[in-house]
This record gives sequence, structure tokens and C-alpha cells, in this order.
Amino acid sequence: MSTYELPDLPYDYAALEPAIDQRIMELHHDKHHQGYVDGANAALDTLEQMRENGDYGDIKGVERNLAFNLSGHVNHTVFWENMSPDGGGEPGGELADALDEHFGGFDQFKSHFSAAAKGVEGSGWGFLVYDHVADKPLVTVAENHQNQTPQGVTPLLVLDVWEHAYYLQYENGRGEYVDSFWDVVNWDDVAQRYDQAKNADVLGQHSH
Ligand code: MN
Repeated sequence: MSTYELPDLPYDYAALEPAIDQRIMELHHDKHHQGYVDGANAALDTLEQMRENGDYGDIKGVERNLAFNLSGHVNHTVFWENMSPDGGGEPGGELADALDEHFGGFDQFKSHFSAAAKGVEGSGWGFLVYDHVADKPLVTVAENHQNQTPQGVTPLLVLDVWEHAYYLQYENGRGEYVDSFWDVVNWDDVAQRYDQAKNADVLGQHSH
């Protein structure tokens, strides 16, 4: 029995058109995300074998595979839920208040996030996360799925900027893809993640 499983998309493959083409969603969910799920499960199996054999010769590579593939699984799981065919517009409520307080307003947040996502070198992600140390939202980025990004945070809004996420439709136009993403953001989902993160005592203390 596998520990990690591919979640269903919460909408049809074509539901996010014209922002994201059906064929991209088919390949992205069924092939790429499935690959990360399989990779994470394989890493767990290998680690179990290592414990049984007492042979940790390739431990460095296996732990790296676990971090890469499990981070890929987590990021994509949040990414699908962050989008909706009924998305777009702007957030309301406490999330809107937090973006005002910590970014100077929604437009400034959007510019910051877009610039960060467009600026990722090679494959990676743009993130809006909740920082449990300072108790506030942050914009961060990851190279690959997990590099160059801080610990102690919960993902709220994530944007995949690997070429597999946009190249079939936008070719080398990552900027146009990032700009189109805002048309399908499910702010209700982001707001729910913000509310849950804000109220979770993840670090067991408040050590500002
Ligand atoms: Mn991807």
C-alpha cells in the first residue's frame, strides 16, 4: 500500500482554459504529478530496505529523492486546489487585510509575487506562504521544488513555473503565463489556508 497517492483534480482538465490548456493539465497532473508521487513512495521503500539491510551506502541520494519528490507532491496538491474555473478577482476578509498590512495592498502583493515567480532561475515555484515564526505572510520562491525556500512555513498560494507547466501553450513566455494565472486563482481556497495556518501553533511556541 502506497503512502502517497495522486489526488483527483477538483475540476475537468479543460476547466482552466483559456488560462491553462487542457493538454497541459492532462500531462501535468497525470504524468508529472504522478511521477513525484511514485518517486516519493519509492524513496520510502528504499529507506525501509536500508533499515532492514543496515546498509546506508546511498542514504544521501535517497534522502535527496525523498525531499525532491515529496515536495513536488505537496506543491502540486496545493497548486490544483489554488485554482478554479470560477477564480480570479481579489481576496476579501482577513486575507485581504493581511495583504494590505504586510505588502501595502493587493496590487503590491501581486506585483511582488509575479516578479518573484517570473524571476526563478530554471525550474521552480513562486509561493505565498504563512511564516509561523513571525506570524505573517511572505512571498518566497523555490528552485526545483524545495531549494532556496525557508522552513517553518505553510503554503497558501503556489505557482508552478517549470517549463512543463506552460511551454505547450506559452512557449518561452513565462511572463504571459504568470499574468494569466491570476485569472484562475481560487481566493476562497487561499483564504481558507490562511485562516488555518494563522490559527495553527506549528512551532509549538511563539518565538518572534
Ligand atoms: Mn509541475
